[in-house]
Amino acid sequence: MEKTLKDFNELLDKMTSIQYATSLIHFDGATTAPSGAAEVRGKMIGELSSQLFALSTSEDMNYYIQELSKYENQLTDIDKAKLRICKKDYEDNIKIPKEDQLEFVKLTVESEEKWQEAREKDDYSIYEPYLQRIIDFKRKFINYRGYVNHPYNTLLDDFEPNMDVEKLDEYFGMLKERITPLLKKITEKNIDYSMNNTSASLDKQREMSAYLMNKINYDLEHGLLKESAHPFTINMGQTDVRITTHYKEDDFVKNIYTILHEGGHALYEQQKMPQIKNTILDTGISMGIHESQSGFMEHIVGRDYNFIASIFTDIKNILGEEYKDLTVDEFYKHANNAKASFIRIEADELTYSIHIMIRYEIEKMIFDEDSKVTAKDLPSIWNQKVKEYLFLDVPSDKFGVLQDIHWSDGSFGYFPSYSLGNAYSAQFRHYMKQDLDMDKLLKSGDVTPIIGWLKENIHQYGSIYTPDVLLKNIRGEAFNPKYYVDYLEEKFTKLYEL
Ligand code: ZN
Repeated sequence: MEKTLKDFNELLDKMTSIQYATSLIHFDGATTAPSGAAEVRGKMIGELSSQLFALSTSEDMNYYIQELSKYENQLTDIDKAKLRICKKDYEDNIKIPKEDQLEFVKLTVESEEKWQEAREKDDYSIYEPYLQRIIDFKRKFINYRGYVNHPYNTLLDDFEPNMDVEKLDEYFGMLKERITPLLKKITEKNIDYSMNNTSASLDKQREMSAYLMNKINYDLEHGLLKESAHPFTINMGQTDVRITTHYKEDDFVKNIYTILHEGGHALYEQQKMPQIKNTILDTGISMGIHESQSGFMEHIVGRDYNFIASIFTDIKNILGEEYKDLTVDEFYKHANNAKASFIRIEADELTYSIHIMIRYEIEKMIFDEDSKVTAKDLPSIWNQKVKEYLFLDVPSDKFGVLQDIHWSDGSFGYFPSYSLGNAYSAQFRHYMKQDLDMDKLLKSGDVTPIIGWLKENIHQYGSIYTPDVLLKNIRGEAFNPKYYVDYLEEKFTKLYEL
């Protein structure tokens, strides 16, 4: 067993290095690479990806999985986790015939182009046949891979291990029952809390980024900040964790929350235990848990009244004369303004999960066992749901079904993780409040104990435990969406004096 374990780890080391090289090329492409160099980067990434695929489905890999599975009970949690991840990868990959996989990849490239064109021209019919083929492929892949209880569960599991329709029905059901009426009341009040002016020079905004990164203990010896069209976090293990932002001269507030959001992702990656350094476990466990950490820093810390008050003098000093009359109250209300809107990526803390609920209901419908839903039906289904949950009439598909790129590459099952992240973060907050005087800490602006708590209970484990186990290990309780819905209700009822 010792020998097999050693060989297994050597293979994984090789795979990790290839993975890091791919990430580095992605980061370079999104931040500094010359615009004419896309082709050669595509070639490099293609080559590395096929190498990685070959190793993860190799005979050697199969042998190690078979052998180590016999001794699973004797393995440490760390080795068990490696085995778990490789086994799932291997089984999923070999079940899909190579020719199907190749054809699908080709289709996604075309489909992304068609999506872009359709969105630009605001003409869904350009995209519709491609989306239909993507859906057909995904249905076929589910058949190859099999499923438990609901076909959509297989897709969900790719992004959030062990998450299923049963739990999500309960979660989104609760949102529908309690948050949709809350939004309705807020909409009827017709109050706009947004500030008239949010402009600040890029120099000032850069200074603010540096201030905030320092405030939340983002380690710049093992990280850096660059600019890209869409902000993101990427890491090569725990010692190289990079973030990006996108500055807009007319909106310094957006940058504040981008830095806190990406900073939250980065802290998760930087605070893992050294025992898993540069292994396949040296990365966040799932998109949902990752979003819970960015959401924690962005919303629960960053949009908290006390925290805003604690950094307000410093922020105003950076902003200078122009904002000398700005009050904490004005800023707090602006940062928490809630308003139904068409576009998900521009949605606020309250309405964001409603956007995800709409996508969840549609995706579940598409992959239902005897689904009759076709790509042709999607715009009208979409618009109906926006009317029902956000009380808006979608003016055209650009503001509706065409807004997100993700279906064009087959990422069904991906959206719920965003919203789950917010729900997880509220559950973590609930437990954290039992251990720490959060109000006092946020008032003082000292977030070190808060970040320490996240490290202790979540960050250090990287990918060792699946999200459900990670959550249960804290207080013995499974995922419970009640904490999130309570949190939203309490916060926004007070803010809008309902
Ligand atoms: Zn994020």
